[in-house]
Amino acid sequence: MRYFYVKGWRRIVRTDTIAAIATGMSHGGISIIRVSGEDAISISDSVFHSKSGKKKLIDQPSHTIHYGYIYDGEELIDEVLVSIMRGPNSYTKEDVIEINCHGGVMVTRKVLETVIKHGARVAEPGEFTKRAFLNGRLDLSQAEAVIDVINAKNTYALSSSIRQLKGNVHDKIVDIREDILHDTAFIEAALDDPEHYSLDGFDEELLEKVQKSKEELEKLLKSCDNGRIMKEGIQTVILGKPNAGKSSLLNVLLGEERAIVTDIEGTTRDTLEETIILDSIMLHIMDTAGIRETVDVVEQIGVEKARDSAEKSDLILYVVDSSRNLDDNDYLIMDFIKDKKAIVLLNKIDLSPVVSAENMKEILKEKGMEDVTVIPISAKQRQGITTLEDTLKEMFYQGKVSFNDEIYITNMRHKEAIMEGLESLRQVEESIRNQMPEDFFSIDLMNAYTELGKIIGESVEEDLVNKIFKEFCMGK
Ligand code: GDP
Repeated sequence: MRYFYVKGWRRIVRTDTIAAIATGMSHGGISIIRVSGEDAISISDSVFHSKSGKKKLIDQPSHTIHYGYIYDGEELIDEVLVSIMRGPNSYTKEDVIEINCHGGVMVTRKVLETVIKHGARVAEPGEFTKRAFLNGRLDLSQAEAVIDVINAKNTYALSSSIRQLKGNVHDKIVDIREDILHDTAFIEAALDDPEHYSLDGFDEELLEKVQKSKEELEKLLKSCDNGRIMKEGIQTVILGKPNAGKSSLLNVLLGEERAIVTDIEGTTRDTLEETIILDSIMLHIMDTAGIRETVDVVEQIGVEKARDSAEKSDLILYVVDSSRNLDDNDYLIMDFIKDKKAIVLLNKIDLSPVVSAENMKEILKEKGMEDVTVIPISAKQRQGITTLEDTLKEMFYQGKVSFNDEIYITNMRHKEAIMEGLESLRQVEESIRNQMPEDFFSIDLMNAYTELGKIIGESVEEDLVNKIFKEFCMGK
């Protein structure tokens, strides 16, 4: 065990040897048992017998692989390949051994048990990555990206997390913090040593710099919405009067009959939620009882839920029955979705239309909703679904997602720190405008510096670090 200090915090870095199964617990070709810590190599030597029986891992160079067997005393456990990665050139910056054994659940457990019996301790979830963080190989935003890469459910989420792992969020935050620190240091120096450093005219210069940093943080904040949608998917609600074809649409999107489709009005009593992936866009779709006045108590609850989820949604798919005239229900829904991201799906175009796309656009225009896209579809005959997919891509990813120059903030913790940092910079701006003394500036600048530091893991408390790593899976 050793200690180290970060900004006055004394942190304990455990160096004892930990081990865990790094691969999934199911039958497969191979499994990997990962061992890390000061005795990783000697513990492995006590269970590993090379083919010739003479080779010791301790004598082998780093980043080499060795063939042999795992023995628990006299008992042969498995035939294995063992890799050696000596610190600091390893995932944790400690000595790391990875034992590749056969991929059965029993045999993998047996190998782990043998390593534990010979002196290693079972790793806590995320402990390997926590060590990588505490030993300075990753910052906190990168460590969090490791969880996001593992949990990514679509290609957008994966690309964004990989870029965060490579350090794009880290680099941006470090740049902004450096500028802030530079200005704070200058103010402090000038206050201490006014003969050599002058603050004359510095106010305007600082104001300009603070505004630049603010703009960069605001841009990051704006990316949060897209970032969240990429990571978590689009919260979508389907609205429309009874029998418009909401359940049928959901079924088409799902590719199977799951919602109850009937001719009796109001059969979709409660809400159903389904997750679908349309050409790598993830939608969490809520089919609802529709927004309308109702006397049926059970349905009333559904209606309230529908309103509630529509309020919170990222997107509303409003299904219109083109074979019937618009009624009060439709007008109620249009009023409701006025200020929301919505797509109008003009359904049942296979029947003789009463409402055309042109009629619909005209009505929307009168309501000040001329920007809303109208797509003619037939849920029954599966027409118009590709156009819906293309429209979604256009709406949420501007047709294409560029990961080369954009940074997406996908983590709520980062978002909060950015908001706090921005608030402190606004305070600096206000103090400059109110011609407050310079030491006011430096207090708020340092607050911004500290808040932004939380993103990369500086000035974070140990509890938070522990909480973050608890979300990891075993062996990572
Ligand atoms: P909901 O109440 O809005 O969920 O409507 P449903 O999905 O239950 O559909 C009501 C009725 O309309 C059912 O009989 C469906 O088969 C029918 N329907 C739905 N979509 C279409 C369509 O595109 N064309 C035709 N002809 N009928 C449809």
